[in-house]
Amino acid sequence: MLGIESSCDDTAAAVVTSDGRVLGEAIAGQAAIHAPYGGVHPALASQAHAAAIDRVVADALSRAGLSQHDLSAVAVTVGPGLSLCLDVGVRKARAVSRAAALPLVPVHHMEAHTLVARLAGLAAHAASGGDGGGVLRDGEPAPAFPFLCLLVSGGHNLLVVVRGVGDYLQLGSTLDDALGEAYDKVARMLGLELNPHGGAALEAAARLGDASRYALSVPMQKHANCDFSFAGLKTGVRLCIESELPPEGDPGRQQAVADIAASFQSVATQHLCQRVRRGIGWARDSLQGGSSAGSGGSSNSSSSSSSSSDGGSGSGLDGSAAALRHLVVAGGVASNQYIRQQLAQVAEAAGLQLVVPPARWCTDNGVMVAWAGIERYRLGLYQPPLGPLQLAAGEEQEWVDLRPRWPLTAEKHGGSTPQV
Ligand code: ATP
Ligand code: FE
Repeated sequence: MLGIESSCDDTAAAVVTSDGRVLGEAIAGQAAIHAPYGGVHPALASQAHAAAIDRVVADALSRAGLSQHDLSAVAVTVGPGLSLCLDVGVRKARAVSRAAALPLVPVHHMEAHTLVARLAGLAAHAASGGDGGGVLRDGEPAPAFPFLCLLVSGGHNLLVVVRGVGDYLQLGSTLDDALGEAYDKVARMLGLELNPHGGAALEAAARLGDASRYALSVPMQKHANCDFSFAGLKTGVRLCIESELPPEGDPGRQQAVADIAASFQSVATQHLCQRVRRGIGWARDSLQGGSSAGSGGSSNSSSSSSSSSDGGSGSGLDGSAAALRHLVVAGGVASNQYIRQQLAQVAEAAGLQLVVPPARWCTDNGVMVAWAGIERYRLGLYQPPLGPLQLAAGEEQEWVDLRPRWPLTAEKHGGSTPQV
């Protein structure tokens, strides 16, 4: 499977086999292009994708030692994301599909972030010679469905029960910023280097800081649900910077930056841990209640169980209560070591195994798209090879179906705990 990703500011491609071997990967980032704008500039991002896409796909194929005619199918992110950017990847995928008569698998970007955790487990299992019980480098097995997933990235902050491919129950989401976005903004406020992004820079600064020096409040203490909010915390950091941060050139400034970074990270992580702790209870309740509506009833990951192009093809639940065994943390922020450590404790206390993909598969990449494509392809969720390009009279270029706004799930947990 060739996977192509261009939803935001990384142009990426990879070739992955159905038994979890990554044959070739390539990525072109755009951090330097967007640094002066304080966020991703859509038109510049689209131009940069257009300039990079052919080379990135060619590099992934050549590193795999393959031509496009050796592929079985091509997967591409069709949403959510910036439409100008998605368009570049989808056109390239369609061109490859036409040239080599390959089926096309439309992929949801956040599903790709989620499912790559299963590839990580599989790859580790293979590396252990198959007798390690699916053991990953950090002792993590491939998570079977259902599992609980905390998705923390630049644009999303979701807590979901993953019941199968395309079958998600949302327990909570952010009321304002996603945590990755908050990391980027706080890093900017603290004057940290944003290349490739603020998250890693802030984590590095926090490592040298004292989280107890400045008191920031844990968000949403009065709301006993699984939603998130980072806007208030961000304001708390801004006020702290305004009142406490020594001016440029002051010898105490660097330590104060580190202390504020550590405090922000500690409080944001406490917020995550609190929500995840509650979410584990909600997830167990929902699985025990057999609330697997939309899972397609009896299903099996190797069967083609749905004709829906958007999913609804649960592959883990058979109607009986399925035990929750894994907590997956995915998305760019999941590469944060401190957050991993704290969530590992939450998982352990609840009797769950923590699974986090390797850092390079947490931020945007082609491998996750190829793998999500494989999971969907197995279930028959793909489009047949495209025929030769035929434009209608007056049409200058083909119409491409993108889904820039595409919720991961329509189904939301009703919540079981009143506000306190
Ligand atoms: P989305 O996936 O929601 O569409 P995106 O694709 O832009 O958004 P990702 O590529 O998944 O987001 O992740 C990038 C985000 O992850 C950035 O906001 C970045 O700051 C954050 N991030 C990356 N590494 C770390 C880290 N070590 N600590 C905290 N945040 C990090
Ligand atoms: Fe992403």
